[in-house]
Amino acid sequence: LMEHLVEGARQLGLSLSPRQIRAFQVYYQELVAWNERFNLTAITGYREVQLKHFLDSLSCLLAIAEWRGGSRPPGAPSHRLALESGSLSARVIDIGTGAGFPGLPLKIVCPRLKLTLLEATRKKVTFLEHIVDLLGIKGVEIIHGRAEEWGRKPAYREGFDLVLARALAELPTLAEYTLPFCRLGGMVIAPKGDEVWMEVRAAENALAILGGRLRKVIPVELFGLAEARSLVLIDKVAATPPKYPRRPGIPAKRPLR
Ligand code: SAH
Repeated sequence: LMEHLVEGARQLGLSLSPRQIRAFQVYYQELVAWNERFNLTAITGYREVQLKHFLDSLSCLLAIAEWRGGSRPPGAPSHRLALESGSLSARVIDIGTGAGFPGLPLKIVCPRLKLTLLEATRKKVTFLEHIVDLLGIKGVEIIHGRAEEWGRKPAYREGFDLVLARALAELPTLAEYTLPFCRLGGMVIAPKGDEVWMEVRAAENALAILGGRLRKVIPVELFGLAEARSLVLIDKVAATPPKYPRRPGIPAKRPLR
């Protein structure tokens, strides 16, 4: 079961338990079964889901390790990721999580995370409620709503250590969606494709306005995937001004420049 994921995770320094492997297997089956009615994802092949959804989500652990302890010294044991995943209890929010990526795979391997999943499309929220219930995962809050609205609520504003967003928007828009949720000293993690430097440059001003600062771009090569990936890490270094995020639709329509 899940042999591509298991090998890919192993290469990241993580050894998945039989329970975790079964959870991913059930997640896969439900994703594909629900996809026929709900149109959750274009990626449905057994191998592809393991690599492009599950393993790609788990690669965020490389960013989390960086946030917790600086970069790994050369030659240091990669099983540090495994040690960290068990004890990590950060408050994490995944913005525009879709069918749960990257938040839910991370929660499966880091059971102590306090995870909030935010998603604007009702049918995707219905799937998330179903899969979290079916897998018996505790400590997950699922919200149907938009980042522009929830990022203004006092209980959510600057209330998270880590803010995740994959395939949500280009960086200037993504930054306006995510940085309001991030506490000072926290970090935004955005898994992206290969050629990300143009996008990063285009976001410099938006980051400065919103209280973010580029920390680094981590190049990621994942088992079984030809295309290189990268993780964009943004530190939260100053409070986000109260006028952000702007009203729903504006961050995408008129990205900060
Ligand atoms: N993160 C998932 C889904 C990416 S698609 C993955 O990587 O597979 C982008 C998702 O973000 C969609 O499900 C869309 O409904 C949601 N979304 C887009 N804009 C949003 C917003 N402003 N607030 C909350 N969710 C949003």
